[in-house]
Amino acid sequence: MEASSQKAIVIGGGVAGLAAAIRLSAKGHPVTLYEAANAPGGKLRERKENGYRFDLGPSLFTWPKLIQDLDVFARENCPEASLPSPFQYKTLDRSTHYFWEDGKSLVAWSDQNAFVAAAQKAFGSNAEALEAHIEHSRKSFEATRQIFLEQSLHEWRETDKSAWRAVLSFVHRLPLFGSLHRWNQKRLREPHLVQLFDRYATYNGSDPHRAPAMMHVIPHLEHGMGTHFPLGGMHGITQHLVSLAEGLGVDIKCGVPVERIAHEDGKVKGVVLESNRDDIVPAEIVISNSDVYPTYRKMLADIPAPEKILRQERSTSGVIFYWGIKTEHPELHLHNILFSKDYRAEFESISATSTPGADPTVYINISSKVQSSDAPTGCENWFVMVNVGANPDEVESLVPEIRKTVLEKIKRTLGTDIEPLIATEFTLTPQGLQDQTSSWRGALYGASSNSTMAAFLRHRNRSTALRGLYFCGGSVHPGGGIPLCLLSARIATELIESHS
Ligand SMILES: Cc1cc2nc3c(=O)[nH]c(=O)nc-3n(C[C@H](O)[C@H](O)[C@H](O)COP(=O)(O)OP(=O)(O)OC[C@H]3O[C@@H](n4cnc5c(N)ncnc54)[C@H](O)[C@@H]3O)c2cc1C
Repeated sequence: MEASSQKAIVIGGGVAGLAAAIRLSAKGHPVTLYEAANAPGGKLRERKENGYRFDLGPSLFTWPKLIQDLDVFARENCPEASLPSPFQYKTLDRSTHYFWEDGKSLVAWSDQNAFVAAAQKAFGSNAEALEAHIEHSRKSFEATRQIFLEQSLHEWRETDKSAWRAVLSFVHRLPLFGSLHRWNQKRLREPHLVQLFDRYATYNGSDPHRAPAMMHVIPHLEHGMGTHFPLGGMHGITQHLVSLAEGLGVDIKCGVPVERIAHEDGKVKGVVLESNRDDIVPAEIVISNSDVYPTYRKMLADIPAPEKILRQERSTSGVIFYWGIKTEHPELHLHNILFSKDYRAEFESISATSTPGADPTVYINISSKVQSSDAPTGCENWFVMVNVGANPDEVESLVPEIRKTVLEKIKRTLGTDIEPLIATEFTLTPQGLQDQTSSWRGALYGASSNSTMAAFLRHRNRSTALRGLYFCGGSVHPGGGIPLCLLSARIATELIESHS
């Protein structure tokens, strides 16, 4: 059989599952995607309520080229297909508005000179140190991206050896030991700036005091490559990927959970659906976009699981309050962070009790600041999140208390009592995330990166136990977050092309 005519099944319609389906279909494979929920998107879904629109999961959009690459890939491989117009987004003039309870605040302008000048004015900080810090992040990102993000870490045959040369030529400048916090502290010193740069550990649900200093590459995504806003909001990404997939002929079936992956003699045979346990839907290729934990525990319960990988500490989860606010707040922008006074104590509390304690760091996202149709006139749609442990049992009963501490924190920091301004409200918890997306324990980003070896302990993108089985999504290499999920789909499908 021609490799490209091998039938492929994708389990899960998260951003990585959709991207994998697009790439395989563009290469000529007949592709069916099964999504357990009633709509695709996984964590990247939306909900509309009383005139407000809320993105339910991700809110920060970086590295848009990875989506544009899918448009280009589809067009190049299928010039005849009826495809949607290319993905559209705006580039923003700033990333985040930061606030501290001591009255300090800072706008992180996209223009680096403006950002450095604003930091100098707010904190009297050393401009050269901040510039050098951002520049080092860029150089490290560029030296390591190919090895750690853009190709498999587990397939030596496929490894581009020039990528290793790039890492090796910069290795003497990489902080291979110590925590991200120690790295920031040593180089920046000014406490507000240290906290600001420590925050990047939370980009993949980790603790800056335990996460390796190598995570200093993350700020480059925001400060170097910029922050953006998709047309239609974050859910616009899902909508675009779905139209691209459908335009290529992917058969997307929602509300159809896969029960197990069928296999024989070390090869996948297809999948068994919950709705018809008697038959196997045949396929030569199966890609799981489901969290790797339920993939093994539920869909592959008849083969030995990679226990060391499944036992890894999970990334943090979140409690998210979606509030329709009936007033406007000019001091806030699209992304806003209200920092805790003691970041270390906050993470210790999350680790010990699964909750951030009495003084949480609060993230407020307001998409109506950029897309005014997301809230009624004169109102704003607030997505308010705190980090919690991926521990549904402990967190669920504490949600009313967390809500109270969040309201108090907003009042202390911004001087506004938000509670009487809430016109509409619903909440997402770790349990809700697990129920709605199958993410084990409601973790936002799969396993945490709280150890130096974390990057090497993510599950690989190709199964060595079953021929024809592949993995993509936030719980496998290279990790969580939209850009890395899109890269996981690219890596998995490139492996399919070279192994089938
Ligand atoms: C609250 C929150 C905030 C976040 N903030 C950001 C952010 O600002 N920026 C960012 O880049 N990232 C952010 N992330 C992370 C980002 O959302 C994820 O890393 C990414 O969306 C995960 O995509 P995925 O492809 O792994 O699939 P998921 O979104 O996890 O979807 C997997 C899909 O597979 C389906 N599935 C599972 N099992 C089966 C089965 N047996 N049969 C059929 N279907 C199945 C599920 O129903 C689900 O739809 C955030 C996440 C959350 C929850």
